[in-house]
Amino acid sequence: MTQTLLVLGSANADLVVEVGRRPAGGETVLGGDTVVLPGGKGANTAVAAARVGASVALVGAVGGDGYGALLRESLESSGVDTALVKTSERPTGIAYITVTPDGENSIVVSPGANADVSKSDVDALSFEGASVLTCSLEVPLETVIHAIDAASRAGVRPVLNLSPVAELPAETLRQLNVLIVNEHEAAQLVGSDWRDLLRLGPTSAIVTLGSRGAAVVAQAGVVEVPSIEVDEVVDTTGAGDAFAGALSARLAEGDNILQAAKYAVKVAALSVTKAGAQPSYPTAAQIASLG
Ligand code: ADP
Repeated sequence: MTQTLLVLGSANADLVVEVGRRPAGGETVLGGDTVVLPGGKGANTAVAAARVGASVALVGAVGGDGYGALLRESLESSGVDTALVKTSERPTGIAYITVTPDGENSIVVSPGANADVSKSDVDALSFEGASVLTCSLEVPLETVIHAIDAASRAGVRPVLNLSPVAELPAETLRQLNVLIVNEHEAAQLVGSDWRDLLRLGPTSAIVTLGSRGAAVVAQAGVVEVPSIEVDEVVDTTGAGDAFAGALSARLAEGDNILQAAKYAVKVAALSVTKAGAQPSYPTAAQIASLG
């Protein structure tokens, strides 16, 4: 293992279809052509990190079907190491997404192979050469808890994107180097005083604030990192994963949390100016050209 960043999480094929309105129970409606996009929070995070130059491997699972091949291809063409993406007997995870003219999404997620990402996959990791392990959900919670513990014992800094909020053991929260949540999740966890996130146990926390950027919560206090201005917001899908991936990439390169957050808000802001999740993620060169 030579990657400095490990990402543990889901890989899904997003099947997107536009419909005039959602069907009621027992009803059929016609939709537009199906668009198949690579997605899943883990794969998105790994791709965002690789695009900005991280040496990153995804720990996850896909099925031995065409969608699995599509996901591997998308990861590999972005530079993500897929040696730790196993091929499960179950089908590749799929998100069935219907979009109505008002832009609202309804989503059914079929976890498939993601449900097979197990503690024994974590036990097979060497962690050698890694400095950061970033976990997202959509894979079994017990696997995430085990991975955070294993990383922490191996001297690798655990980062967790806790979206949606899930119950975690107090010990897991204490082992975290960075806890990432959005504003709603922060409110669910601690209410309005974000400093209380540190009382849960992590060394530091980040609250992402949509178009307003992000806040870094550390022992020294709360520092807001405003977003850069973007011309037009096209699609915010996967913005949170772009943020988590870019932040992790910079932490693995040795940035402190504030430096990493300043970089991540730029990456996430550019990601909302293009359609899709993975296809919208910028490269290090694009970020550098922002000045
Ligand atoms: P989530 O999508 O997980 O709910 P947010 O909405 O907070 O999380 O978005 C994650 C990050 O994406 C933000 O911290 C910000 O950097 C960026 N972002 C999201 N929406 C916008 C926007 N409209 N303009 C600029 N940046 C955005």
